[in-house]
Amino acid sequence: MPSHDRSRQIFEQAQQLMPGGVNSPVRAFRAVGGEPVVIARGRGAHIWDVDGNDYIDYVASWGPLILGHAHPSVVQVLQKAAERGASFGALTELEVELARLVCAAVPSIERVRFVNSGTEATMSALRLARAFTGRDKVLKFEGCYHGHADGLLAKAGSGVATFGLPDSAGVPASYTAETLLAPFNDPDAVSRVFDAHPGEIAAVIVEPVPANMGVVLPEPGYLRFLREATERAGALLIFDEVITGFRLALGGAQMYYGVVPDLTCLGKIIGGGLPVGAYGGRADIMALIAPEGPVYQAGTLSGNPMAMAAGIITLRILSNDGVYRGLDVMGAALADGLREAARAAESPVTLTQLGSMMTVFFASDPPRDYASAKRADAARYARFFTSMLDQGVYLPPSQFEAMFVSLAHLRADFDRTLDAARTAFAAAR
Ligand SMILES: *Cc1c(COP(=O)(O)O)cnc(C)c1O
Repeated sequence: MPSHDRSRQIFEQAQQLMPGGVNSPVRAFRAVGGEPVVIARGRGAHIWDVDGNDYIDYVASWGPLILGHAHPSVVQVLQKAAERGASFGALTELEVELARLVCAAVPSIERVRFVNSGTEATMSALRLARAFTGRDKVLKFEGCYHGHADGLLAKAGSGVATFGLPDSAGVPASYTAETLLAPFNDPDAVSRVFDAHPGEIAAVIVEPVPANMGVVLPEPGYLRFLREATERAGALLIFDEVITGFRLALGGAQMYYGVVPDLTCLGKIIGGGLPVGAYGGRADIMALIAPEGPVYQAGTLSGNPMAMAAGIITLRILSNDGVYRGLDVMGAALADGLREAARAAESPVTLTQLGSMMTVFFASDPPRDYASAKRADAARYARFFTSMLDQGVYLPPSQFEAMFVSLAHLRADFDRTLDAARTAFAAAR
């Protein structure tokens, strides 16, 4: 068994100083038990903990690191950017360049505003949608995560569509009262919400391929239905592509599925591993943002030169020919290998996979919404996770998150992963 002595010591200190010892809850491993390993460094598809253990990493900082860790080109531009000054709070040419790359890759984004996180992006996009439509209500889907802004921390709710109740202490019910909920992949539920609130809904916000309840695929025609339903109702369609943007295709899920939203939220990959977010879309809508229009939204570090530089080089590398074809092939190969390993171990699972994102669900059928995703056996996942970790494979520490393949994963990494998986699936029977 690998030693985790130093990780344990540091985590003990961390718990004295930070709530749960972490700065984002899922990092504490509570969903899988055990204690988190403390990471010292990463290179390519690998990370090393403070005890020197080597892991093949499928978390990729929760999505941003599609090039792998410490990609030499990213490191180089970051060093250069740091030498020129880490922040000015003034316009730089780098922002213009990243904006040009984003707008060129995602045709529905005519104008873009950079922020510091995906949370800021979705919060601001909803403010904008409300200002543009003059309406207050928004519809989100159970199990879709859009960051931790008050009004979006609502997902539970029985019945077809309910008024959102907060998922978090400290969120007044009045803050989520304007948030309507529906199950994903259920067109009738959406129609019923629109019928019940004629002329009141500013926007529908959706992860086009939900990845925050594990990866759940939209059923054929579903995203197109959302486009038509919002158009009919005079509401905006907001794609939260914080994960899927530059992950499924250069133009994100909207390009992959050929459905054009009014506004798009980005984050993760577009910062190349640095803190970033962005929202953008139709020029007539974006014109409402200050200083052009009356919607206030600002940020001391927004458009930060280091984040912009890392984003620019990342998007440039991703625009090379064949990148996404390659990621699709790798994702499918890993998913097939994992299915085979589970079968060999007689450990029934369902793998949902699209391109380089996937989830091993300990369930008999692929989930189509939050209710069915939640039926997965999280205890079996925890055993699988722990066995994989002990064998040097770092998976998301929760059943309800996505695994990511990066351009840095090698065939040898997959071989080692699948060897480990045969043992881990047996442990999770
Ligand atoms: C990660 C994520 C967010 C929040 O982004 P942060 O940078 O963590 O604030 C929003 N939406 C989706 C779909 C995400 O996956």
